[in-house]
Amino acid sequence: MVGDGFRVHNFIPGNIPSGMERMNPFIMLDYGSRHYFPPSEIPRGVGVHPHRGFETVTIAYHGKVAHHDSAGNSGVIGEGDVQWMTAASGVLHKEYHEKEFSLKGGDFQMVQLWVNLPAVNKMSKPGYQSITNDQIGSFELPGNEGTIEVIAGNYQSVNGPASTFTPVHLMNARLNAGSKAAFSFPSSYTTALIVIEGSVVVNGNNDIPTNFFVLFGSDGDEFTIESKEKAIVLIMSGEKIHEPIAAYGPFVMNTREELIEAYQDFEKGKFGHLDD
Ligand code: MN
Repeated sequence: MVGDGFRVHNFIPGNIPSGMERMNPFIMLDYGSRHYFPPSEIPRGVGVHPHRGFETVTIAYHGKVAHHDSAGNSGVIGEGDVQWMTAASGVLHKEYHEKEFSLKGGDFQMVQLWVNLPAVNKMSKPGYQSITNDQIGSFELPGNEGTIEVIAGNYQSVNGPASTFTPVHLMNARLNAGSKAAFSFPSSYTTALIVIEGSVVVNGNNDIPTNFFVLFGSDGDEFTIESKEKAIVLIMSGEKIHEPIAAYGPFVMNTREELIEAYQDFEKGKFGHLDD
């Protein structure tokens, strides 16, 4: 559990340098598989905590998350929506189940992905992109096979609305039964997928069930996904950032000195203020 509201499997381990290096520029991925939360008067979630040096990307499939940060941004991430928060020089934030969702209870399924920032942007001003489902780029596969929802980067001619600091492609393939889609990313990028719903066959002979994570090798730049049943697949691909990683909890910097500075700045209240 992250706090009491996020039941997750940690597919990209933060704070294990070899794991972060291997998944570069993705430095952490928590996957909350579909899980029923009973009604609660007090919204479950995670209280005020800091981040510095990277971006947190939250993708909601079921349930709703309310968010507040010390930069003054707040919002609700609903089903099909994405929140792209640039912590950069530092924010405090809190993430809770949205009030109405909490009162009613229900299924909850979500991804939180951390994307590293290059050294030149680690101390930039914090930012916040609230991306609702209708703003997400949509590529219709021919023959009613489904839709590729482009959050960042591009799929063929369709661009995603999220602005990124380094090249990142992030998309949901929403496939109908009996569909096949092809994807192409540079082999030097780190490329992975998660099966959010249904099951798929990758590259013709790998059966991947719901909730499984696939990490691609770097020996090619194309792959295919086929769906025998209706499926949702989250696909991510990013250019590696060739800089050292120094990580401690919610801080991801380039050197140990910068981590100490981050911790001291946090202690001194330089991340601003946010009520519990
Ligand atoms: Mn957080």
